Amino acid sequence: MSGSFVMVALDVPLNRLFGYGVGDFDPQVGQRVIVPFGPRQLSGLVIERRADAGDFTGKTRNILAVRDDLPALPAATLALCQFVADYYHHPLGAVISSALPTVFRNVPAFKAPAPACVYYTPDLAQLLASIGKRAHAQRRVAESLALPHTPAALRRVHDSGVKWAKGWLEAGLICTAAETSLLAAPSPCLPLNSEQSYAVSQLSSAQGFQPFLLYGITGSGKTEVYLQTIAAVLARNEQVLVLIPEINLTPQLEGRFRARFPGVHMACLHSGLNDTERAVNWLAALSGDARIVLGTRLAVFTPLPQLGMIVVDEEHDPSFKQQDGLRYSARDVAVYRARTVDVPIVLGSATPSIESWANARAGRYDILPLRERAVRGAVLPKITLLPVKKAGLIDGFNRMAFAKMHEVLERGEQVLVFINRRGYSPVLQCGECGWMASCKHCSARLVLHLRDRRLRCHHCGFEEAITHACPDCGNQDLKPVGQGTQRLEESLATHFPGKTILRIDRDSTRRKGEMDAALAQVHSGEADILIGTQMLAKGHDFDRLNLVIALNADTGLFSVDFRAEERLFALLTQVAGRAGRRETPGEVMIQTAFADHPFYHQLLGRDYTPFAERTLQERTEMLLPPAAAWALFRAEAPDIELALGILKLIRACFEQLDGSLLQPITLNQPVAATMVKRAGVERAQLLIAAPQRAQLQRALHQAMPHVEVIKTGKGRWTLDVDPIEI
Ligand code: ADP
Ligand code: ZN
Ligand code: ZN
Repeated sequence: MSGSFVMVALDVPLNRLFGYGVGDFDPQVGQRVIVPFGPRQLSGLVIERRADAGDFTGKTRNILAVRDDLPALPAATLALCQFVADYYHHPLGAVISSALPTVFRNVPAFKAPAPACVYYTPDLAQLLASIGKRAHAQRRVAESLALPHTPAALRRVHDSGVKWAKGWLEAGLICTAAETSLLAAPSPCLPLNSEQSYAVSQLSSAQGFQPFLLYGITGSGKTEVYLQTIAAVLARNEQVLVLIPEINLTPQLEGRFRARFPGVHMACLHSGLNDTERAVNWLAALSGDARIVLGTRLAVFTPLPQLGMIVVDEEHDPSFKQQDGLRYSARDVAVYRARTVDVPIVLGSATPSIESWANARAGRYDILPLRERAVRGAVLPKITLLPVKKAGLIDGFNRMAFAKMHEVLERGEQVLVFINRRGYSPVLQCGECGWMASCKHCSARLVLHLRDRRLRCHHCGFEEAITHACPDCGNQDLKPVGQGTQRLEESLATHFPGKTILRIDRDSTRRKGEMDAALAQVHSGEADILIGTQMLAKGHDFDRLNLVIALNADTGLFSVDFRAEERLFALLTQVAGRAGRRETPGEVMIQTAFADHPFYHQLLGRDYTPFAERTLQERTEMLLPPAAAWALFRAEAPDIELALGILKLIRACFEQLDGSLLQPITLNQPVAATMVKRAGVERAQLLIAAPQRAQLQRALHQAMPHVEVIKTGKGRWTLDVDPIEI
């Protein structure tokens, strides 16, 4: 291509491209170049090559280098980034920068390491014989090598996994092979039930852009549907992109995929990888070597020259939406991508988002229902509501819950007590004057962590030693109020002596490997009672878990966020889905003070459809998303007045819009955020709504250039298009 200038996208907080001369180089569109920027050097991507430097004023400088560690990005990838930049009103350079693996944002060239390999043992007994009986961690790593493991996967089993594997390799106890080589027979395809077969046949014969909603109850075998559909897509020589939520079960799902497609190059892209592994996998996708890409939300940008299908599993999961910087929804971007590349996309969930539900009801998505549990004889668990009356509770439990726990434990089965609150107790209160320990930097209470004798803020991370006397009245009798996972662990230990209790929350799994070790304890049957937060709700498949008790579910019912009920339904469905996944029927007990609430009636019906219908109708009547499109400006500043002031200036930019653009727009007044103060700054928000996305976008496009030049002093603002938290 000719022209001696290039327009380069840089990750700087200016919403524009930058012109440079090509000098002696011949950079192509989509290539990575190094350019001077003020006194610095930056890495950028060539967006356009042209005869002049555009409106770039002053003396145009030349690019310094062209990096060939990254092949020129395909036009489709650049177009996707451009769409995201336009839709979320974020600078193109910043979008590209988020889309690329970190190493390609750096100035130095990336040197790819030797090709990835897998470790495995041809003779597990011999390997185990060489390891001391008491070296539990080493034995665990060794056992995992019965199946091929990449270095990354081994490192997740144990931090020293790769180090030990190298030793065993030298000793001739294990082997390596190229990741792509055929190592084992594929796991057999399960014979499908009729709804599964229908879904697979619809999905694998779909042509061009066709969105599907795979609406299957927990345990209905959605993964098997994906696997068999993917087999058909691979057979057509196309690539598949599988997006999964940001959770700890990636290894489990990854294992199922690898076992089914042992000879297929699969590239994973998630936060468990280091920068080099990420870059290598990303390049494999771009070159077409990787046929399956399995990743979390960021993977939606991965270039896939032969993309044939996109799968979004657990499409309702809030982690598909990024909550800072570029606030995109990977699910929505995936649907857009499928449309532009003209390939089918399947969104799977037991509790679809109301957005996807609305699309399905409007006929834009085809619903593929899976109404039965896939394992023969397995049925959905029975759900009971247990009233909470202060007087009748024993350490926060209804008597019936205890009785049931005894019964289940006696049978040698497992119990999960679900409580979405970590720490010992959420409040430390003075019994005399009512004082409560609160965070200096946030409008929030400090959570008592008794084990480490600290009070911690779960919002900003502030912590301090436990106070022993009330700072207001001097009273020394400070009481923990309410319960969190730690307190629950303590009281269950007294009620069930001799039982092994395992607490799984963010505090108990902070260090690498702790989560996997805990899960291993659950699977081996060592643990009797599990205490878990949200972390444990999703996706895990525990054989012997037959009773789930949910405490404190009600807190989700009366939230200011209109999506709270939808989230709670999804969460409780997921939690309930952990019970009775095999032949033994499971049971779920939910403690609530609001048993008459329509929400619980629908939950008891164990059918999401009436809930989704009612919720969609309410949203339509109240003009809430998806019956409206929203953009939320958030401002933060040292004081609330400044934050509100910035939002007033932003609002004024919209008031000045042309009449026809302004007409469909609802401009609300700026208000203080529900939690005004967080990490020392005060926060406010401004909601802008329109009946349709296109109307909102037109207004944003005209107003944003004016918004971007507002002087904000010590404050700052961000824009969230289609916010999912308000
Ligand atoms: P979901 O993702 O819908 O919750 P999974 O795909 O995890 O469900 O399947 C739940 C269980 O059912 C798994 O143990 C899986 O092996 C099993 N399963 C799936 N499909 C079938 C089938 N057709 N026949 C027998 N078992 C199946
Ligand atoms: Zn007091
Ligand atoms: Zn705080």
